[in-house]
Amino acid sequence: MTRILATLILGVLMPVSLSAQSVSDQAKKLHSSSIVIDTHDDTTQRLLDPNFDLSVRHSDGNIDIPRMREGGLTGIFFSIWISSKILGPDAVKQALDQIDAVRETVRKHPNDLLLATTAADVRQAKTQHKIAVLMGVEGGHMMGNDLSVLRTFAALGVRYMTLTHMDNNEWADSSTDKPVHNGLTDFGKDVVREMNRLGIIVDVSHVSDKTFEDAIAVSKAPVFASHSSCRAICNAPRNMTDDMMRALAKNGGVIQINYHVGFLSQEFRDYEKEHPDTEKEINDEIKKRCGDNEACKLTTGDQVVRDFMEAGKLPKVDWTKIVEHIDHAVKIAGIDHVGLGSDSDGAVMPIGMQDVTHLPQITGALLKKGYSESDVRKILGENTLRVLSEAERVSRELNSSK
Ligand SMILES: [Zn+2]
Repeated sequence: MTRILATLILGVLMPVSLSAQSVSDQAKKLHSSSIVIDTHDDTTQRLLDPNFDLSVRHSDGNIDIPRMREGGLTGIFFSIWISSKILGPDAVKQALDQIDAVRETVRKHPNDLLLATTAADVRQAKTQHKIAVLMGVEGGHMMGNDLSVLRTFAALGVRYMTLTHMDNNEWADSSTDKPVHNGLTDFGKDVVREMNRLGIIVDVSHVSDKTFEDAIAVSKAPVFASHSSCRAICNAPRNMTDDMMRALAKNGGVIQINYHVGFLSQEFRDYEKEHPDTEKEINDEIKKRCGDNEACKLTTGDQVVRDFMEAGKLPKVDWTKIVEHIDHAVKIAGIDHVGLGSDSDGAVMPIGMQDVTHLPQITGALLKKGYSESDVRKILGENTLRVLSEAERVSRELNSSK
């Protein structure tokens, strides 16, 4: 979930400028036979609406079961997200409600979805032609400073936790707040150790650079950045520097590239800063389209921003920018350390990547760039599965050494 969405929140409507038909047969075949994992998706906010049905094709939003199938997605991490302003028992309760909403969605669609908590589960889902549903808690504030809540999250199937969201919490600094802890506090380090023991992957998206360093130093298992892009291309604090990517690679981790236009394009980012009135215009347009319908607001922001881009009111950001970030990350961190973390239904998708059905275009573009089939498979999902397997291995070792 990004700032633009935390304030305006988003969606999708229109057809596509570049269709999946432009993808070669080789790419389609490779894509459909690969494990394809998206490590960050905010559709959970829609699952809380009793009128929302994930099993039917929607004209808005980025994700539903028919479109995930069409886009060849094997596994998706649904994000458990609440604002980092909400704390204490309220935060815990709302996180548990969202975990329940994800679990109930899986229970209601047993022919399409499989609740996955291990790498083996994800492969099993692929074999059974189902979509593996995983969960990540996006912000350590949701555990209410209580390790027993973290253990409950793990027992319910949560497999990663982003240490912070946009505000610092009581034990870790965020990349979008003023540092107060100089990274992780002693308790923050205990949180990381307990996550290692429980097999919950340490997610360093959103955290400050110093929190990142501390997390890498403390964690016995590889960490990942579930939805971050490259700061060398777009200078957002949410993105990773080349040095951070090198450290992540040394740790065995993965950076999963975020598709949000404000993290992909420096031009878009600069324009947003220089034209603060545009945000008001966007909000007015959302209000015009949605009135007071909150569910509509949730999925309209990203379409409005894309419409503004198409109309020349904002710099155009094309989906090929995602491939540019992937390619840069591979050059810096290596082929074993890059993956996909779209931030779907929580950010603004670029032109040509309006929803998950367009995913095979990335496979096509990487092949065209000269990536081998085995390298493409790594980026699509194998690297992420390796981190999940490693988290399981470290967890087993830590539990057996007690
Ligand atoms: Zn986020």
